[in-house]
Amino acid sequence: MAEQAPLICKDIHKTFNQLEVLKGISLETRKGDVVSLIGSSGSGKSTFLRCINLLETPTSGDIIVHGDPIRFTNNRKGERIPADDRQVEHIRAKLSMVFQGFNLWSHMTVLENIIEAPIHVLGVPKKEAIERAEAYLQKVGIYERKDYYPAQMSGGQQQRAAIARALAMEPEVMLFDEPTSALDPELVGEVLKVMQGLAEEGRTMIVVTHEMAFARDVSTQVLFLHQGVIEEQGTPDKVFDHPESERMKQFLAPKF
Ligand code: ADP
Ligand code: MG
Repeated sequence: MAEQAPLICKDIHKTFNQLEVLKGISLETRKGDVVSLIGSSGSGKSTFLRCINLLETPTSGDIIVHGDPIRFTNNRKGERIPADDRQVEHIRAKLSMVFQGFNLWSHMTVLENIIEAPIHVLGVPKKEAIERAEAYLQKVGIYERKDYYPAQMSGGQQQRAAIARALAMEPEVMLFDEPTSALDPELVGEVLKVMQGLAEEGRTMIVVTHEMAFARDVSTQVLFLHQGVIEEQGTPDKVFDHPESERMKQFLAPKF
């Protein structure tokens, strides 16, 4: 039997008040896929990622994580909500997210940031959580900063710590929402390099990015969103070199 897809999204819609922000987004991943989500600001990229790990509830559509469909129900007001809080916690652990603003806990050291969820969500014994955290800190190249507080590190180091924290959950899929957009230009490369390393290890990743070189060189699939619709989708070769949609062509055109 073919290996289970890490993540399948079917016809995801999301409406805020009256505004339909996602108008039917579907995505199927295979293990090791790196999916780049590109598109202008406001096109719905973050909302789609947030729906995937249930920071937002999709208004309609299905999400299936490694064969396990997320269950929804309606609350008394008739709004769709996740049916099972334990499943939500489980899904968040399997689909860990790296944010633009790092979102490390400022009152905890790097090591404490990384071991928190494995201990309290996954029930990993503390000693093992520390060993794992140290291994991931080595991997992202900031082991020697493990006892620093976030404010004592550069943005690039903080983002690498946030990646180590996501890795420590041993997720099925890693979600990245513009992980380099808040960084000074000279720090972007060190974070992209870590992400490229994860891709080469065969980790499944969904990356919202404006780094077109990364999207072109590292992804297996590219999704171009425009006003909540997938306007263009395919391999980087197809999307970047042979785009069909006019909007994609405009998006790629040099802007002077
Ligand atoms: P992107 O990440 O592509 O820049 P977003 O997903 O953040 O786009 O936003 C898409 C649209 O959804 C925007 O018009 C934004 O204002 C709207 N939106 C996002 N989150 C909310 C929210 N919580 N409430 C109302 N509107 C929202
Ligand atoms: Mg966004």
